[in-house]
Amino acid sequence: MLKITPYLGILVLIVSIGGLWYPALGYFMLLIFAAIFLSSPFRGRWFCGNLCPRGSLVDFGVSKISKKRKIPDAFRSLWVRLPIFFLMMGFMGYRVASTIVGLNTFEKIGMIFVMMCLVTTSIAVLLGTFLSPRAWCSFCPMGTAQRLIGGNKYQLKLEKDKCVNCKKCEKVCPMQLKICQTGANPDCIKCGRCVSICPRDALHF
Ligand code: SF4
Ligand code: SF4
Repeated sequence: MLKITPYLGILVLIVSIGGLWYPALGYFMLLIFAAIFLSSPFRGRWFCGNLCPRGSLVDFGVSKISKKRKIPDAFRSLWVRLPIFFLMMGFMGYRVASTIVGLNTFEKIGMIFVMMCLVTTSIAVLLGTFLSPRAWCSFCPMGTAQRLIGGNKYQLKLEKDKCVNCKKCEKVCPMQLKICQTGANPDCIKCGRCVSICPRDALHF
């Protein structure tokens, strides 16, 4: 992860709460979308583990009060994730399109983004508290998009001859991935925690 990663969570709070009074803050979401679609063709879900403000909030804030339970396998299934992706994107597109005609368009569209941010962040915080910090990230529509665009890019590599199966890597993985079994995983968010903790230097990108 980057040095600034732990401090980015404040941004999602500023947009979600401050945006209720200053809807223009919602346009920050466009910057997020742009960063995602620029980085994912080369680095898959790297954005999630390094630059996502919501990811930072759950990793470095919510994790302190999280029950840290197992993330349900269903959350990772594309049968669940794709309908969520199309529903949320379709709903947002519909709301923006139906707002374009009328008065105060700039503020109204900004408020749509603010509400999307507020609702999804609230779900992420609830799931992060009662399940696991990154439970939301298992089916987040933006994470699903990055997986579809670049899931096979910049993958984690496991040198099996060095691995002693201590599973330290899996204990620190915020996405609860089966690192020792599968090595590369399209839902790896490239946070680097497993690489840092491996006592055998068996993992690298
Ligand atoms: S931490 Fe390293 S040695 Fe231990 S299981 Fe993971 S890859 Fe293998
Ligand atoms: S596999 Fe390693 S780099 Fe990927 S999410 Fe898990 S801990 Fe982070």
